[in-house]
Amino acid sequence: MTSAKIMQKRREDIRRRIATHDHSFPTCVVLDCGRPTAARERSGLNRSYCRTHVEHFSRHGSYSKRSYTAGDLQPYRGRALAWLQANAEHPDIREAVSRMRTLYWRGRPEEAFRLAGKSPEERARVVWARLRTHGVDHLQPLAAWVAVCLCHAADLQPERKIEYRWVQAGKVLNRLSGGSHKRWENLGHGGRLEVTELHKYPASRGRVLRHLGEQVAHAAKRLESHLEAIGASAAPATRLPRARRRVSH
Ligand SMILES: [Zn+2]
Repeated sequence: MTSAKIMQKRREDIRRRIATHDHSFPTCVVLDCGRPTAARERSGLNRSYCRTHVEHFSRHGSYSKRSYTAGDLQPYRGRALAWLQANAEHPDIREAVSRMRTLYWRGRPEEAFRLAGKSPEERARVVWARLRTHGVDHLQPLAAWVAVCLCHAADLQPERKIEYRWVQAGKVLNRLSGGSHKRWENLGHGGRLEVTELHKYPASRGRVLRHLGEQVAHAAKRLESHLEAIGASAAPATRLPRARRRVSH
């Protein structure tokens, strides 16, 4: 079967399942939400949550908790990076870096304009490849995972499911991989120069974030035994490099 036929069959299957759903909760199970579940509304397959909360889960990895902000994670990332740099020769860090290298070389970089139609697995490979081509230090994704773990440990109302942490790390990696930027110059009326710019970032939602987070968590497994030491380290936080913006013409 060709891939177009497979896609069509999958679409028809989903449509049929949406149309025949009846064993669902009438309203979303999130406290005080009250909206009809996606299945009941015939807008999706989810029998327990409404469309808004399904979307929230896709973006944040939790039905109710919002993502950590860049500002929440920043101090932890700086401290983690400083600690990893200071202990770069430790066998656990060397092993994690070598696993990073493998992930960096797994895929081909693609512009953010060309991600449509790719599977979440492929998109994750593209993000890793973009980190490679943008020259992002191997310690940065590791520091991102450590930072998410430290932030989670200090969180008074943490989301317990590991998926939330994967998504948080996935979001940082997505940002680190940068967007795609294009710029055109045209001569407009009266010979005036008109500049058009197009900026596109990979969408920060969906299964690609789970893949990225799970992959970095797996690579950084042995660093988790150092979390306490990193959290308590008095090393001055390393200033994080600003996300770079590349312009291709
Ligand atoms: Zn809801």
